[in-house]
Amino acid sequence: MKKNIIKSIKGFKDILPDEIKYYRFFEETIGKISSQFAAEELRLPLIEKSELFHRSIGDGTDIVNKEMYDFTDKGGASICLRPEGTASVVRAAIEHNLIYDRGLKKQKYWYYGPMFRHEKPQKGRYRQFSQFGVEYFGFSDTNSDIELLMMGNLLLKELNIENAKLHINSLGDMEDKKKYEKIIFDHLSMHKDNLDEYQKDTLEKNPLRLLDSKSDNVKEILLNIPMLYETLSVTSKNRFDILMGKLDSLKINYILDNSIVRGLDYYNDTVFEWRHESLGSQNAICAGGRYDNLVNTIGGDDVPAIGFAMGVERIIEILKSEDNFEIEKNTSIGIINISSENEVYPHLISKDLRSEFSDINFYNTDSSASLTSQLKHAIKINDKFAIIITDDNIKNKNLTIKASENQMADMLISLEDLIKYMRNKHE
Ligand code: ATP
Ligand code: MG
Repeated sequence: MKKNIIKSIKGFKDILPDEIKYYRFFEETIGKISSQFAAEELRLPLIEKSELFHRSIGDGTDIVNKEMYDFTDKGGASICLRPEGTASVVRAAIEHNLIYDRGLKKQKYWYYGPMFRHEKPQKGRYRQFSQFGVEYFGFSDTNSDIELLMMGNLLLKELNIENAKLHINSLGDMEDKKKYEKIIFDHLSMHKDNLDEYQKDTLEKNPLRLLDSKSDNVKEILLNIPMLYETLSVTSKNRFDILMGKLDSLKINYILDNSIVRGLDYYNDTVFEWRHESLGSQNAICAGGRYDNLVNTIGGDDVPAIGFAMGVERIIEILKSEDNFEIEKNTSIGIINISSENEVYPHLISKDLRSEFSDINFYNTDSSASLTSQLKHAIKINDKFAIIITDDNIKNKNLTIKASENQMADMLISLEDLIKYMRNKHE
């Protein structure tokens, strides 16, 4: 009879040891870069009240409408697995008075962790994925936009990711956004017959979202609409011109891209996205923008803010495809134990070795197996060196080692001499 094997859920991925080195490298790098920019880390719950995202991301968006893992818990509360980090950071910042406490505190935060969205799983798109995100509170001028963009660029550089392209746009203020929404709505309404049901629905709920539609029919209809930039108010345009001027002076490459509108309601003015063409259609690796009204929407005071979120799986995909990625591996040494069952000496030896050599991986082989099979295993781990502990060793308070310069022949040695020997070899 075939066994009924339980498998993981679609869109939820196991990360196996082979991939861990890329994640470690990524995690080390974000820690380093964040502190270079004086951003502090926040670790927040994976579950929040559903209302938090209804209020912030918006009811007309895909994330809230279709992709939320929301449910009623046993106490009847309406809760969800967080689909993104920004709203939670804002929630926590208000709750703990991190940004407003009898005056505005200017703060910079970062987070890293899993997010959940019920999307169609495919390459670069999972139902559980990780984001690294940065949020700046209290900074309103273009210098904070520039600082954040520089941080993103430096991070990509430190990760050795080349060829990422920065696309930017400005949504203007809420008025500008509404004005442009109407332009799109009016324009597409004239061509309703060419839209499918889903597109018609989006047109009603969130017309801006159709700007970054991948469907040819929508792209074609929108070909002749004015650029968002052209419709901005004088103040918004002025702000965006200053920003682009600074990017030019700083020689930061960017593409002014009218299709960048972001899928979330809370953005205003600057919006941006880094893309990496090697990834195919899921090519956005990091995205963000300014959200000056969100703190207020969630219940706090008026605090300007800007942030981004980086998709970790897509970054890891790029790291994996680059063959120059090599992390120095720690030396591994097998410790073979063929002493009697009630002996503890091998544990004491292992403990001493581990505290003496913190960067060596000691692998205790299976002590219930024969010497031959343990030795075979130890040689697989390290074909030049292995440590053996027998009953005789215990009696004589020494160890047996096999070293390749000795053709793996046995050698007796005291623990102190072994430590001296290994220290010499190790340096
Ligand atoms: P997309 O257009 O790819 O759906 P998005 O606009 O929904 O992205 P954001 O909410 O801005 O994405 O999230 C920021 C980043 O997180 C994205 O640029 C992407 O790298 C990553 N990301 C978003 N959704 C997923 C997912 N389902 N699986 C893996 N990574 C994701
Ligand atoms: Mg999405």
